[in-house]
Amino acid sequence: MLRTVTLFKHVGMVREILVWPHPTLKKKAEKVAVVDDSTRGLIKDLFDSMYEADGVGLAAPQIGVLQRVIVLDTRARQPESKPIAMINPEIVSLEGKVTYTEGCLSVPGEAEDVDRAAFATVKFLDEQGQEQTMRCDGLLAIAVQHETDHLDGTMFVDHISVLKRELIRKRMKRLKSDRAAEKADVEHSAAL
Ligand code: ZN
Repeated sequence: MLRTVTLFKHVGMVREILVWPHPTLKKKAEKVAVVDDSTRGLIKDLFDSMYEADGVGLAAPQIGVLQRVIVLDTRARQPESKPIAMINPEIVSLEGKVTYTEGCLSVPGEAEDVDRAAFATVKFLDEQGQEQTMRCDGLLAIAVQHETDHLDGTMFVDHISVLKRELIRKRMKRLKSDRAAEKADVEHSAAL
């Protein structure tokens, strides 16, 4: 689907979110060497794209950028939390177990139970390039594990049974061809 594109990069841009399966979603993202304005621009785009799609987390590879950057906003479930961007996030410890029904903006309309750790401690650089450590619980802990997985080319569908994954693959194939047909219709019509 075509989205609104703004002319000025610094105000942020809603980017197209890649749909699984896609070769970029299987690649390992590169560490960010220097946190600068381009990193902060990427973070703005990630937040704008995530909010546009009603998500609670988004990783840079999902918009085609192979850099280790993720954004999260779980305030809908955890009002005390804050929107947060993590650069080069690294999970340093996991505790407990929980089964959570997860979805993914790159697998629209699908949700499956995934076994995760209940608590995740993550080390990362903030938007100023400062090292931070955060212990996450609840949905934030799930989201951190889900989004850091994306940076290593792993999707939530890689955590479920082959049978379920192949059914989802078929539905995504149909969704992609429906979207392509919709796009072709738009290109061959105009409101005059
Ligand atoms: Zn995802």
